[in-house]
Amino acid sequence: MPISDKLTRQQIIQLLASEGEERKSLFETAARVKREHVGNIVYLRGLIEFSNRCCKNCFYCGIRAGNNKVVRYDLSDDEIIDSARFAYDNKYGSIVLQSGESESNAFITRVDNLVKEINRITDGRLRITLSCGEQKADVYRRWYESGANRYLLRIETSNPQLYSRLHPNDERHTFARRIQCLDDIRKAGFQSGTGVMIGLPFQTNSDLADDLLFMKDLETDMVGMGPYLEHSETPLFKYRNELLTVERRFDLSLKMVALLRIIMKNINIAATTALQTIDKLGREKAIMVGANVIMPNITPGSYRDNYLLYQGKPCTDENPADCKSCIEARIALTRNTIAYGEWGDSAHYS
Ligand code: SAM
Ligand code: SF4
Repeated sequence: MPISDKLTRQQIIQLLASEGEERKSLFETAARVKREHVGNIVYLRGLIEFSNRCCKNCFYCGIRAGNNKVVRYDLSDDEIIDSARFAYDNKYGSIVLQSGESESNAFITRVDNLVKEINRITDGRLRITLSCGEQKADVYRRWYESGANRYLLRIETSNPQLYSRLHPNDERHTFARRIQCLDDIRKAGFQSGTGVMIGLPFQTNSDLADDLLFMKDLETDMVGMGPYLEHSETPLFKYRNELLTVERRFDLSLKMVALLRIIMKNINIAATTALQTIDKLGREKAIMVGANVIMPNITPGSYRDNYLLYQGKPCTDENPADCKSCIEARIALTRNTIAYGEWGDSAHYS
């Protein structure tokens, strides 16, 4: 059965539950849309997890402030700059600086200086994405003006009731602020990215369909979404027996990628690490059904054990060079081409 480009909410819900021929047809349609609109090309973003210090307490996240079993770290400025240089020298085209959240002046100034320094040493030839959580509008503007190009802030779920069950009920964790920040990010000039977790406790296929329509309404330029994976030192762990199996969460995640590619043809969609945690070829499978971005972890290996958002995160014992050869072999399996040295800006943004 051919799948239309203009999917209604009801059709999306049905396709999220599809099996057999219908599921196959969904994946084939997404692969065709990807080939026709963004090509069988994969862009690399070197991911630098530069600090696991966080002032927030999201109920799902292993590095939440309340987890006192985490060894906290900050990469030194030199380590961050060296990682950025590694990405530049290896023609990654872009990097993502990701961290826990802080609104302190010291943190804001530090990120600002890092962005300027990375632009200085690469002559502005490396795209910089920030993923440093919720900030005031003037902070987003300042970081954009200093030379960061893109910003990632997942909505996590577009259902406000579900959002409130995943976060503490206080002014630091409101759905309204999340929406405001997404708006501020776009207005600051960034290519803006968002995303959701898939297979959360209490989440339904209708919620996921709404998530896809939310991203379309938001006109987001890039999306990173993947399965929710539990961590024993988080409040949501108590619901672990009520979750879908990891295989079902994985299958739903592939369907979400495929559906998003069909409804938002020219955006950038990441094949996330959480997919690889469930299935060793998880990211490759996502690339085959619509994803076109991969984010090799280039954080120095010794720190990665302490950036465990969920248990079983892969490659925590590798170094960036191991990671690079592994990625090349993996992308070759998908018959896509790695776009070395290209920024891979979202066609949707331009
Ligand atoms: N602190 C920033 C923020 O929250 O936007 C950036 C870092 S945060 C660790 C990046 C993303 O990790 C979150 O947006 C969330 O979707 C994801 N994440 C956290 N805990 C997770 C879990 N248990 N399973 C899957 N993804 C998770
Ligand atoms: Fe902090 Fe981000 Fe984890 Fe929430 S998801 S606890 S903001 S690192």
